[in-house]
Amino acid sequence: MNDNSPDFTSLGLAAPLLAAIAEAGYTRPTPIQIQAIPEVLAGGDLLAAAQTGTGKTAAFTLPILHVLAGNPIHPHPPGRPRCLILAPTRELAAQVAESVRTYGQHLPLAAMVMFGGVSINPQITALKKRVDLLVATPGRLLDHARQGSIDLSGVEILVLDEADRMLDMGFIQDIRKILALLPKKRQNLLFSATFSDEIRTLANGLLVDPARVEVAPRNTAAEKVEQCVYVVGQKQKRELLAWLIHERQWFQALVFTRTKHGANKLAEYLCRHDIEAAAIHGNKSQSARTRALAQFKDGALPVLVATDIAARGLDIEQLPQVVNFELPNVSEDYVHRIGRTGRAGAAGHAISLVAPEELKLLAAIERLMRRKIARAEAEGFTPSASAETAYDNDLRREPPPRRPRPARQSVAPSRDGHAPAAARRAGTRSANRHDSAPRHDNGGNIRGNTRANTADATNTRRAAPRAALFSGKR
Ligand code: AMP
Repeated sequence: MNDNSPDFTSLGLAAPLLAAIAEAGYTRPTPIQIQAIPEVLAGGDLLAAAQTGTGKTAAFTLPILHVLAGNPIHPHPPGRPRCLILAPTRELAAQVAESVRTYGQHLPLAAMVMFGGVSINPQITALKKRVDLLVATPGRLLDHARQGSIDLSGVEILVLDEADRMLDMGFIQDIRKILALLPKKRQNLLFSATFSDEIRTLANGLLVDPARVEVAPRNTAAEKVEQCVYVVGQKQKRELLAWLIHERQWFQALVFTRTKHGANKLAEYLCRHDIEAAAIHGNKSQSARTRALAQFKDGALPVLVATDIAARGLDIEQLPQVVNFELPNVSEDYVHRIGRTGRAGAAGHAISLVAPEELKLLAAIERLMRRKIARAEAEGFTPSASAETAYDNDLRREPPPRRPRPARQSVAPSRDGHAPAAARRAGTRSANRHDSAPRHDNGGNIRGNTRANTADATNTRRAAPRAALFSGKR
């Protein structure tokens, strides 16, 4: 972006939005914002190709807030949202809601987030009040629709965020059911990182004469990320990873595994080797996921091990290090994964541990990105003689039974019962971190001027708006 690019004022956004943008520290709109904001303000349908990390959330949230605030309705019946934003995962829904909260903090609009995996009752209570914007995952939204706790007949604007991932996750039937509940006349915005035939079919059925905007084609999005590959046997990977974490003193690394079981195993292994780590995936309770993510964001937890779906949409600013413990089967997922680092212009690093049997996957990724990824050598690393046997023994152990609702899921202490080394390195910063996890109000009503929520007292840029806007009774 150069100095001649438009600024937010020239996009015609209302003063309360400009104030919130300035407070968020944004100086210029990103390319997707420059293209999408005028289209959304003009009221037409939109088909947008943009990945997480491009500023896509603000690209639809800002103009929607502008339109809703500029056209208030009186009286506004409770539980009848005017804008519905559908997101594939709980994490993304929570993150989008946080953006709505941040950008809408000076506007008299009420927003709410709803997702499954948490009690439905606080959400039902929240729906008894006014809701202007609703951010929801499809399944939980349908639960509400079935029990009549939500009225979707007032939806003026529909957003499908990360539509490709929604289809990947099998939400197409749910989306169709939701569409059938919406008024025919409405504005539709579809955001997707990739454009498969299924997405095109969905877009054709949903959008009327849409404007099309596109930024950073998927194979160039991650150009700012320094990437390299270590070719290493599958059974030696975990030793190498632990060695790299110690050796390079990584303090915030997001590690991708292909399976939930693999994520658990790896987190356990790292914890046993004095590296504080937690796994997040779909089998973890929502509170455990939220807590691990908050600790990771705060810097209290140096390693987060995640599956693709759980990590989708995680917005962690300037995450320095991404690790592919296994390569994904779908090449595009590699680009999504490394898009977690080097965001908003910051430099990032992504390393991949590639077993010989994964070299085919690596070749496919390199074809997609039209570039060869540098091969690296771990000089000074020698796999221990017992690595393979220990790996096999570990693998043979059954996965631990799922605990229904752990009272407190967090990082395991090291074998001696003391805090792991990484936590000790973090010193007092990690003290009481269990209490610093953001606890989303399941009802999620996020009106302005409400009682401050002290749950998330960390000094991140967005902590203040969240605290000011969450009115949650827990
Ligand atoms: P998203 O693509 O919506 O996930 O946004 C990625 C990150 O970019 C988020 O952390 C946003 O807070 C940040 N962001 C969005 N718009 C801007 C902007 N105009 N200037 C700087 N950062 C931005």
